[in-house]
Amino acid sequence: MKIAVPLESDPVEARVALTPETAKRFIGLGAEVVVQKGAGALSRIPDEAYEKAGATIAKDAKVTFTGADVVLKVRRPNADELKAIKKGTLVVATMDPFGHEDDVKAMAEAGITAVTMDFMPRITRAQVMDVLSSQANLAGYQAVIDAAGLFDRAMPMMMTAAGTVSAAKVFVMGAGVAGLQAIATAKRLGAIVSATDVRPAAKEQVESLGGRFIAVEDEEFKEAETAGGYAKEMSDDYKKKQAELVASHIAKQDIVITTALIPGRPAPKLVTKEMLASMQPGSIVIDLAVERGGNVEGAVAGEVATVGDVKVAGYLNVPGRIAATASLLYAKNLYAFVETLIDKEAKALAVDWEDELVKATVLTRDGSIVHPAFAG
Ligand code: NAD
Repeated sequence: MKIAVPLESDPVEARVALTPETAKRFIGLGAEVVVQKGAGALSRIPDEAYEKAGATIAKDAKVTFTGADVVLKVRRPNADELKAIKKGTLVVATMDPFGHEDDVKAMAEAGITAVTMDFMPRITRAQVMDVLSSQANLAGYQAVIDAAGLFDRAMPMMMTAAGTVSAAKVFVMGAGVAGLQAIATAKRLGAIVSATDVRPAAKEQVESLGGRFIAVEDEEFKEAETAGGYAKEMSDDYKKKQAELVASHIAKQDIVITTALIPGRPAPKLVTKEMLASMQPGSIVIDLAVERGGNVEGAVAGEVATVGDVKVAGYLNVPGRIAATASLLYAKNLYAFVETLIDKEAKALAVDWEDELVKATVLTRDGSIVHPAFAG
């Protein structure tokens, strides 16, 4: 059983799907592990560290993929990679398939078994495999660090002999995994933190971290959570009332961090140009949803845009900005899942296609799209 780990082909991707620790554990299960030269470099993992763990270094992607039974990646394979990966190979990555249906089709046509980690059910057994949580948590942390770096004032209140500096006001929109970590990080830096979300359960979580909860708490709000714990799309009437409340709040903030997502849908627009114009000059907005269309008007993917007197950062791949830590957790998530697909006696892949985690995550198999969200 050969497990192959290429250098990520997307230039924005600094993470890697394997660490020396997980390489060692796969080898312990009887796997041969091949890593492309330089695959871990941007996550500060030198080739020698993989070799020391027992892996082999391959000179290029083609050699890496040759004969592989399993490919571990961060992002879904591109057309060149699909040509190099043999039919039937299990390719495990964060495929981000919504909105990329053509790529799902291409993976089916290439005959690979595409497994997407971002569809992992959020059940207890799969918590250790939850890449969305492990990466969103780091994105929330990094968003505050990025905001602090762009901000030209201090975050905490400081009482010095030269005078008193007031604490920065940070408003987090969307209190899921990323938002809660942003709240916690901003609190640690001494900011005055508030947050909003459409899910009622978020109120208590925000308050337990010392943040103030800002939301229109009407009847619709009380019902605004799916059985899976995700946000529902809200009515136009709710959005209008919430926007008015948020508008008056944003005018008083120094830093706004937006993280609001609805699975399978474009990100809701929460911050308008008028709201940005109401902020103090030098204020900072970080749009963590920019890759899904953005929560902020005027946010540009991959850029720090200046809108009036406010800087709006649309950094791409925020977990990749803290790549060494992100890779460490991502690789552990992947190991925890892939390990369950291996027969320890036979030292070979033995996928139970009826397992609920497998059913939820397999997109393509034997030349067809098999996931119900995309098939047909
Ligand atoms: P997400 O990334 O899908 O969305 C981020 C946040 O944006 C969510 O809290 C969502 O409610 C919020 N949002 C959506 N529309 C909004 C709007 N118009 N205004 C304000 N906020 C809006 O969410 P996530 O981080 O993946 O977390 C979703 C839920 O899943 C949370 O309840 C979280 O605690 C839960 N969760 C459970 C597990 C588990 O049980 N294993 C693991 C991770 C997360």
